[in-house]
Amino acid sequence: MSINSKFDLTGKVAIVTGSSKGIGLSIARGLAEKGAKVVISSRKQEAVDTLAKEFSEAGMKAIGIACHIGDSEQRKQLIAKTMDTYGRIDILVNNAAINPFYGPLESAGEEVFDKIMNVNVKAPWLLSNLVQPHMKENGGGSIINISSVEGIHPGFRLGLYSMTKSALIMLSKNQAKEWGRYGIRSNVVCPGLIKTKFSESLWSDEKLVAQYTGVVPLRRVAEPDEMAGIVMLLASDAGSYMTGGVYTADGGYLISG
Ligand code: NAP
Repeated sequence: MSINSKFDLTGKVAIVTGSSKGIGLSIARGLAEKGAKVVISSRKQEAVDTLAKEFSEAGMKAIGIACHIGDSEQRKQLIAKTMDTYGRIDILVNNAAINPFYGPLESAGEEVFDKIMNVNVKAPWLLSNLVQPHMKENGGGSIINISSVEGIHPGFRLGLYSMTKSALIMLSKNQAKEWGRYGIRSNVVCPGLIKTKFSESLWSDEKLVAQYTGVVPLRRVAEPDEMAGIVMLLASDAGSYMTGGVYTADGGYLISG
């Protein structure tokens, strides 16, 4: 089998949570360009419909299904509607996440902890559980969990977020261990600082950017498109022996300093 055909995703169905913008959108576009039928999802139906139309007009296959990943009923609907439309699920990218709190650990309230754990940890766990029987039936699948360098190395005043991203790494390793026997692979991608809405407060702060680019080996902040390549590898047969892995795409941030 040629390496080109190993990257081909024709016939595969992929769900990408939080794919109306940023890293999720780049991943959804990459998967669709490689031939997958893609479910674009975020909280707003209008936004995902617009993108699905745009993808279809460009010759790609996509539908939009709104889903607040923190809502149990909406998670079930996301999977049920995907199955109704495409009849299978091969790839799940747990990308959507929130960071509602920036500050010292001791000043965060319990309700903030519950909210961030619900969206960043509980939702990927339960969404994966909903997808697992369908992947099992197909004889395999690929789950890609989008964590962060913050899941490996503590930053500053991002403690709760950091804890959730760390938990996601361990979720992925356990999925890989428990579900490998069904042909299901699970891997983690840890981005560094990427120029999206999510991180705007960081990359729009000139002092902080100067500090970051001063130490990170590649000397710059990344664009969201730079996160898609690693996901193409993990999602496709090109990464068929890769599971339980943690992959950074961070310009070398974790080896800096
Ligand atoms: P982004 O540009 O802000 O996009 C976030 C996406 O998630 C949007 O499509 C948003 O759409 C959706 N979303 C937000 N809350 C949601 C919810 N509760 N349910 C469903 N969808 C939701 O963010 P990003 O920077 O691309 O972040 C994507 C992932 O990369 C996250 O897991 C983040 O932790 C990780 N990451 C980002 C960076 C960075 O520097 N940007 C670094 C490391 C890791 P709606 O608002 O319309 O729902």
